[in-house]
Amino acid sequence: MDKRLKIGVLALQGGFIEHIHILQSLQVETFEIRKKSDLEPSMDGLIIPGGESTTVGKLLNDLDMYNDLKKLIDNGLPVFGTCAGMILLAREIEGRENAHFEAIDIVVKRNAYGRQLGSFFTEASFKGIGQIPMTFIRAPYIESAGAGVEILSVVDNHIVAAREKNVLVTSYHPELTSDNRVHQYFIEKLILKKI
Ligand code: GLN
Repeated sequence: MDKRLKIGVLALQGGFIEHIHILQSLQVETFEIRKKSDLEPSMDGLIIPGGESTTVGKLLNDLDMYNDLKKLIDNGLPVFGTCAGMILLAREIEGRENAHFEAIDIVVKRNAYGRQLGSFFTEASFKGIGQIPMTFIRAPYIESAGAGVEILSVVDNHIVAAREKNVLVTSYHPELTSDNRVHQYFIEKLILKKI
């Protein structure tokens, strides 16, 4: 990679450190976003990690970061959301009115696999990559997607990864495996294509 890319990882709560490690394995410069002043206008991409979407949504409002982030995403900043991150990026969260970015035309169902099957591991296909390991933790899935959304993974008839323009989302946690190809996809297809 010629230019050293800089990707910010939202670090208010949840599993951000694993994303940082994966990005480091891809020679990308990364930094943690904990407060409004951490938002660097020069960043090439943003990751919203897993955690608890209601908590993160509340913190985004309390820390007065929601509007700034929304503006950056709406203006085309490439963003990758995993699990709770996917929920925060969705157009609609089924049955909920939490703060969220409405950045990708999907309806998501939280904790969609119920209590028993809340967490599981499988291997399935990611369009353009092939079979990849997928770790689900009290995961959401995508109930419906608009016509402009590209569906990237389907597991048990549920959409679990998708992309629309500058927004990539997965129900599962690619950062919890040693396979860095989804992050590489984010960099190559959403960031480098744009630059
Ligand atoms: N169940 C969580 C939520 O609804 C998401 C879980 C996760 O990010 N691993 O926000």
